Amino acid sequence: MEKILEVNDLHVTFSTYGGTVKAVRGVNFHLNKGETLAIVGESGCGKSVASNAIMRLIPDPPGKISGGSILFNGRDLTKLSDKEMRRIRGVDISMIFQDPMTALNPTLTIGSQLMEGLRQHHKISSDHAKKKALEMMDLVGIPNPEERLKQYPHQFSGGMRQRIVIAMALICEPELLIADEPTTALDVTIQAQILELFEKIQAGTGVSIILITHDLGVVAKIADRIAVMYAGKIIEVGTKREIFYEQEHPYTKGLLKSVPRLDLKGEKLTPIDGTPPDLFSPPQGCPFTARCPMAMEVCDKVYPFSSELSDTHHVDCWLQDERAKQLLAEAAAK
Ligand code: SF4
Ligand code: MG
Repeated sequence: MEKILEVNDLHVTFSTYGGTVKAVRGVNFHLNKGETLAIVGESGCGKSVASNAIMRLIPDPPGKISGGSILFNGRDLTKLSDKEMRRIRGVDISMIFQDPMTALNPTLTIGSQLMEGLRQHHKISSDHAKKKALEMMDLVGIPNPEERLKQYPHQFSGGMRQRIVIAMALICEPELLIADEPTTALDVTIQAQILELFEKIQAGTGVSIILITHDLGVVAKIADRIAVMYAGKIIEVGTKREIFYEQEHPYTKGLLKSVPRLDLKGEKLTPIDGTPPDLFSPPQGCPFTARCPMAMEVCDKVYPFSSELSDTHHVDCWLQDERAKQLLAEAAAK
């Protein structure tokens, strides 16, 4: 499969008066053309920071991409000038955020905002831009597009506004769409509609999607593969089936146990005890050690190697590593 994006050993830090926060600590992942990769984890795990880094939207200072590379169609985005990056943003890579209102200008009609996005990047006539805007409104399922182009954001419901934001993100036909908690602000019925819309758009345009979310229900619906982040690291990655049914990392197991499941009514949810480590001085070893029911002596000393359970399934946990088993056996023999 052809890769559209390859992130290698990405590090992002933020300087504060209290010290340096290591928000993303050596993250590796890739995205194949036309697929949806979900990056999941609790708030503060670094998933939004990692996706903002791809867009080069880390405010510098205080933030900084302090290491690694981000290859988009083979070009390292970390090496591009701000001007080159502006040309990529919104055209080749688009981003959708949680709150549609932050992406919309309340003083401009929907039509002018859609058309402006397009005309900023392409030299086209206003007739052509309008035609394209109408097509996009239709694609995202907004009825009476001709009428609605003349209206302002406050005249739309939350769900309709998010559809407009999606239309704006797609109007330049990007190859990569990054959606950061795109349905979190919406009620459940609208959420489901928006997720269906993502699927429909992907089937129609072949756009590759990175979906950032803390909501495993969203992931179950539309992800092809899932990367689980914890304390600035991807601790497990696999296909949707591997993560939901064959997950091996104790944190992933805990995360899945803390999610309500529609098919198991009445089953009690078990939240994971404890809190993630302080990212001012993250632990040397496995960052989950303090919360992990399976933790061994080696865990808090050395970060686990990545074990390859299949071509697509990788996990960073000593339980999967023969070398740790050997250490344990040696310790038991003493
Ligand atoms: Fe638990 Fe150790 Fe695995 Fe970390 S490496 S998840 S502490 S068993
Ligand atoms: Mg976030």
